[in-house]
Amino acid sequence: MDKEKRTEISNLGEFGLIDMISEDIKTNHSSSIKGIGDDAAVIGEGDDLRVVTTDLLLEGVHFDLSFTPLKHLGFKAVAVNVSDVAAMNAIPTQVTVGIGLSSRFSVEAVKELYEGIKLAATHYNVDIVGGDTTSSRAGLVISITAIGEVKKSAISYRSGAKVNDIICATGDLGAAFIGLQILEREKQVFLSNPNMQPDLEKYPYITGRQLKPDARMDIIHEFKEMGLVPTSMIDVSDGLASELFHICKASDVGVAIYEDKLPIDKQTFDTAVELNLDPITCVLNGGEDYELLFTINQDDFKKLEKHPDIHFIGHVTEKDSGKYLVTKSGTAVELKAQGWVHF
Ligand code: ADP
Ligand code: MG
Repeated sequence: MDKEKRTEISNLGEFGLIDMISEDIKTNHSSSIKGIGDDAAVIGEGDDLRVVTTDLLLEGVHFDLSFTPLKHLGFKAVAVNVSDVAAMNAIPTQVTVGIGLSSRFSVEAVKELYEGIKLAATHYNVDIVGGDTTSSRAGLVISITAIGEVKKSAISYRSGAKVNDIICATGDLGAAFIGLQILEREKQVFLSNPNMQPDLEKYPYITGRQLKPDARMDIIHEFKEMGLVPTSMIDVSDGLASELFHICKASDVGVAIYEDKLPIDKQTFDTAVELNLDPITCVLNGGEDYELLFTINQDDFKKLEKHPDIHFIGHVTEKDSGKYLVTKSGTAVELKAQGWVHF
């Protein structure tokens, strides 16, 4: 290593860093069908393939135990991995669970965490088949790896979007981010005056979206039943704009999305306004919704047209047309991907 040179990780950011790591990583096995660069890797031979994905959750970075019940955290740790399996249009089958525990934790606390992990395993019908346990000096660490099954012809990569495809999003967006703002605000109130009780009852939906997200496996099962394969797909973990950028980069296309089509829940909207935040910015850049963002061929529109929880937010354009949000007044504003700033 060059002793003189030191580049701060913050100069590259999360995505730049992953690009740097993956630059000179090549795969050698014919069974490594898709390596770094999608929501999950794809491995195997023939038509019946497997997907594999890992997510790491760190105390103080991804969760704050002062307002996160351990049972919810256990559930969420599984759900975020299942969400990446879903984003490949695959069905999750197994998980392994790695945990790093500090001496602050009691046996009862570990049981509570596992209650949530087991609840999620039942909910998503996955088997817990292994893991690792170690002590940690830096708070609680949870690393889950999920494995899923998919037919070769049913895989949705980030790279399959074609010009004129319709861009679709499930559920509503921005709620988990606004929920986090409320949880953090109430924590500050509590820290400055411990006699004040957190006022969370007013915001059940948005705080729930932050604390107990549900991966959209329901949608994947529906796709299977109706024989629909999205041309591309990604889950919304970092924010809509950032995920659209990933699809554009992988598929070599541009996008146009429409402000009046963006799905936002009323409580999210009202609370954003209460917090002096722009609701549309929250929809575009708020993370952790764990909804699905996907593209379909126009011929498949009829199959989803009447779906109550799928929203048609725009269409895929030529790469040279760029990435735009068309506002309610008809102005095209260039999209900026912010993502999460961890470093
Ligand atoms: P997601 O948000 O869907 O979990 P990420 O942005 O975390 O996806 O990761 C994008 C891609 O980079 C994935 O293919 C992931 O496996 C890969 N990746 C992330 N971190 C590393 C790493 N440290 N080494 C190798 N591959 C990585
Ligand atoms: Mg993902």
